[in-house]
Amino acid sequence: MGIMYHSTRGDQRAYTASQAILKGLAPDGGLFVPDQIPPLPKSLREFAAMDYHGVALEILSSFLTDFTRDELEECVEKAYDKKFDTPVIAPVVKKSDAYYLELYHGATIAFKDMALSILPHLCVKAARKNHEQREIVILTATSGDTGKAAMAGFADVPGTRIMVFYPDGGVSPIQKLQMVTQKGKNVRVAAIRGNFDDAQTEVKKLFSDQALNSEISRRGYVFSSANSINIGRLIPQVAYYVWAYARLLAAGEIEEGEKINFTVPTGNFGNILAGYYAKCMGLPVGRLICASNENKVLFDFFTTGTYDRNRPFILTSSPSMDILVSSNLERLIFGCCGDDAAKTAEFMRELSKDGRYTITAEMKKNLADFTGGYATQEETSERIHDEFASDHYVLDTHTAVASAVYQKYVKQTGDRTKTVIVSTASPYKFVRSVVPAIDPEDAAQDEGKDFDLIADLERVSGVPRPAAVREIDHAPVLHNLVIDRSEMKAAVLDFLK
Ligand SMILES: *Cc1c(COP(=O)(O)O)cnc(C)c1O
Repeated sequence: MGIMYHSTRGDQRAYTASQAILKGLAPDGGLFVPDQIPPLPKSLREFAAMDYHGVALEILSSFLTDFTRDELEECVEKAYDKKFDTPVIAPVVKKSDAYYLELYHGATIAFKDMALSILPHLCVKAARKNHEQREIVILTATSGDTGKAAMAGFADVPGTRIMVFYPDGGVSPIQKLQMVTQKGKNVRVAAIRGNFDDAQTEVKKLFSDQALNSEISRRGYVFSSANSINIGRLIPQVAYYVWAYARLLAAGEIEEGEKINFTVPTGNFGNILAGYYAKCMGLPVGRLICASNENKVLFDFFTTGTYDRNRPFILTSSPSMDILVSSNLERLIFGCCGDDAAKTAEFMRELSKDGRYTITAEMKKNLADFTGGYATQEETSERIHDEFASDHYVLDTHTAVASAVYQKYVKQTGDRTKTVIVSTASPYKFVRSVVPAIDPEDAAQDEGKDFDLIADLERVSGVPRPAAVREIDHAPVLHNLVIDRSEMKAAVLDFLK
């Protein structure tokens, strides 16, 4: 029997994996969850003998059961190829107090590449499987990282198109350059006069605009979403937890069956949830340490059992974790109340109405695998400095949050279990924070000049700038559309002429 997917909010229908990927979100607004978590399909020793492709194929085959093995193999090959700057795909490196799982060797040098490299190929196969003749159109509003990673993934994938909206003046100069130089016949980028919320709200409206949906359908197109709640993004992430364990086993760092901890810099809760799924499959994982920045909603939740988004939104040096509503947490809530959709729906109603909800003591007991922690910007910057001083290893701000939280965790608990820190971005992506942390003098001279800071980092660290940074320096600008929010619909129709 294959694995089916159903909504966290009560819609009784069962969906195949490919249907869940095409839909993205359940019709009742819930998230798709698998009706069971499959056991690991191979022994840990067998995984230790595989390359990344092998591990990914095994994990995807376990969850996405209406795809054939050949189809998934083709997706894996196309996703994890030369776009990555190392054939290892996700290196695990040993430093003095922990291992770092580097998930930033893909096209946009951040961990979202791990899932967004494969999602387009899963979408195309899913469309074919469900006799969807129309071309898939991805619309995305982005605050910087997701849009670029999605475009890099979908660029020139036959049968798909992607349009990205970003807030004009609301992304870093490097992020903007990454987007406006994006190649591909099927991509379009527009800057919106407004902020990220404006762009996001309008994209959601376009998705549910019936007239627009009919019109584009007449033209042979259908909307789909590359959002992080899509199981087509979640499931590929399970693979690198198994991979990390397998690498440590292969290197003789751990015994077969020995438990290890993971510390994960967390925003929308997608990454760490994949780690939890890996644990549920039988991977020997001790604790999942959920690291937040000063927007510490999740730390408070794991500590008190109350999720409360009513607080100021803090702009930090780890912007991809500046999130007050972690969408993927809904899947964990559903699981920890015993797959009770009515209860989950009620919590989510409370969240949208009052901005908060409190889980029961019983439910809280089911969260025992998780420990919450957080780090301030000062602690984060200090950690970047200290890690560079002790190991000559440069952490980006997000990974540094996780590393600082891990150090505090060890101090508080004395837990010496071997730990993998999930490293989510290249430091080259956040030079404005990273360079001042390790070399304040140089940084002061080059304040605000990203490419000068990049040169500083290259000189100080001895790590050459990645191709993703080299390319954008001289790449031609291909997109210069700047529009008002009210013009977004027309821009979409123009793109789909
Ligand atoms: C998106 C992102 C995160 C947060 O991951 P979630 O799956 O949303 O928890 C952390 N670090 C970086 C660099 C990211 O881009």
